[in-house]
Amino acid sequence: MELDEKVRILLEMAADDLDEGLRHSALRPINVRPLRQGGRTFRIFRILLTNACVFNCYYCPMRRDRDLPRVEVSPERLARVFMTAYRRGWADGLFVTSGIPLSPRDTVDRLIRLLEILRFREGYRGYIHVKVIAGADTAQLRRVVELADRVSLNLEAPCPDVLRQIAPQKNFTLYLQTLTEVHRLAESLRADGRPVLRSGITTQFVVGAADDTDRQILTRVDSLYRERVLHHAHFSAFRPIRDTPLENRPETPALREHRLYQVDYLLRRYGFRLDEVVFDRHGNLPLEVDPKTAWALAHPQEFPVEVLTADRERLLRVPGIGPKTVEKILQARANGVLRDARDLAALGVRLWVAAGFLTLRSRRLADASVLEPRPLIDPRTTAGHRFYEFSPGTFR
Ligand code: SF4
Repeated sequence: MELDEKVRILLEMAADDLDEGLRHSALRPINVRPLRQGGRTFRIFRILLTNACVFNCYYCPMRRDRDLPRVEVSPERLARVFMTAYRRGWADGLFVTSGIPLSPRDTVDRLIRLLEILRFREGYRGYIHVKVIAGADTAQLRRVVELADRVSLNLEAPCPDVLRQIAPQKNFTLYLQTLTEVHRLAESLRADGRPVLRSGITTQFVVGAADDTDRQILTRVDSLYRERVLHHAHFSAFRPIRDTPLENRPETPALREHRLYQVDYLLRRYGFRLDEVVFDRHGNLPLEVDPKTAWALAHPQEFPVEVLTADRERLLRVPGIGPKTVEKILQARANGVLRDARDLAALGVRLWVAAGFLTLRSRRLADASVLEPRPLIDPRTTAGHRFYEFSPGTFR
């Protein structure tokens, strides 16, 4: 197979949901994911070293027993392909992951080879995000930490029992130990004055491929945040891949994934504690209402909040008001320019959510009862079973 064709396959399989449009766009085969950072668009070149794998995870499009063309490119060739894209201004950074064609150590060796070529032979100093694999040894992990900006290791499941249901060859304890080992190595290098892993460590969970609950997933995430291991977590709604053991399992509603991301934000940016998050009796987040509104509706004694006098923390608890808007409100208050609801809307307050929880000059802006959860019809669950050829959310 020609290099172009190999690269095309490896680029496509490393795309994520957000890249769906790119699969059919003129941008192929340059698979870039635009990210907005500090007002600038940052394009990540996402690719696999190989889609061959000896593992047989039930949810994965690249599992060993699945029939698909297996290709790989050498670290040397992949470095050349990426540097061409980079020098032509098509991409600003690299995300690289890999199947496991022989063993975790062999795979991580190849990833390290790629990193060394880029950093030392090509002199590339830009962003690199690398996925590592449990089973790599400490010296390998240390080398990756020295050379990458971000390292991720996908736990896929919140606990051993759930992982056993979807990937019986994987050892949850080993995955968790490897994740914390990467963190320990980064901390020790930083203590020596080395500014390593500037973009931190991430992980991902496949959501709904087994009988996991949101509470289980968020409990694991929260514990990794409290130990300061993770920069952030990713959640990937399960999709049934054709010719896999889970092909007949219903796909997870995209809204469930979205709700998990919303709670992740509440934990990281809004000062919420996990024990404040509202779960249903099954341990899942309500889909009908966002998690912050669910908390507010469950705590009527905390509302209404008076816009002109509430402190930063109380304003941040109001649904429809985010951290940037809180800062704008405080600034506007200092300048004495908040007169009515239109002034709040101009600052970014989402009044259709927030109004029922606020007073302005002691006057209610709306009635919170309009926000009571309503039954929700998810178009995906009513559209019948869909098979996917691959899961774009496999790699984040
Ligand atoms: S999830 Fe990873 S280890 Fe499992 S089959 Fe897919 S590529 Fe291989």
